[in-house]
Amino acid sequence: MAKRSETEKSEKIKRWEPPETFSLGGRTWRVIIKDLEDSHGMTLSEEERNTVGLCRNYEQEIVIVRNSNPNIFMMTFYHELAHAIMYTLGRSKLNRDEGFIDALASMIVQFELSKKE
Ligand SMILES: [Zn+2]
Repeated sequence: MAKRSETEKSEKIKRWEPPETFSLGGRTWRVIIKDLEDSHGMTLSEEERNTVGLCRNYEQEIVIVRNSNPNIFMMTFYHELAHAIMYTLGRSKLNRDEGFIDALASMIVQFELSKKE
């Protein structure tokens, strides 16, 4: 029983793709996926090369580097989404708390992976 749901979970993670856009508090955010392998790092800025994800508050953009590990790829998106949510709520102190952001992201991922449609 537990094993079957683990398999379902990892299948969900493998198939998972981030949204192109989403809205928070009436503002539309764009999701930009960077491919490390394709670009050989050429089109990535220094900032992007050194991180797997970025949340650009003023541009309302989330940038994520596609990772060969689908787990990391998905977690990175939800981590940046958690930053975007805290930014939208004006909770700048919580937004700087990476431990809190990771915990919130993992709660959203748990929700996503456990929901029955
Ligand atoms: Zn962060």
